[in-house]
Amino acid sequence: MSADPKVLAAMDCFHRYYRFREAARGAGGSQSRYEAWLDYKVAILRRDEQRCSVCGQTRSMTDLDVRPQHPSGSAEGLSPDNLVSVCVYCDRSAGVMLRNRRKSRLA
Ligand SMILES: [Zn+2]
Repeated sequence: MSADPKVLAAMDCFHRYYRFREAARGAGGSQSRYEAWLDYKVAILRRDEQRCSVCGQTRSMTDLDVRPQHPSGSAEGLSPDNLVSVCVYCDRSAGVMLRNRRKSRLA
């Protein structure tokens, strides 16, 4: 049995996305919305092989963030299909949409 790592990574994204949605409406059990978001974000970065969608460079986890391709303001806008990895260098020059970068920086 050989599972495609890309498929597994995509499934992991969806799994964590649902967990994040649960946490966001207060049904996440012990996991806070913020923790669930970090978990989810890491899954997206892994799916994208830590490659920035703007400059194409592979970056460290701490230099990457995720951003909606099509900002909608709704929770659906945060689905895995709509999130792309962007490095902090491109994010800075592009004038930023996610305000919590400093808070969400991974240790
Ligand atoms: Zn970049």
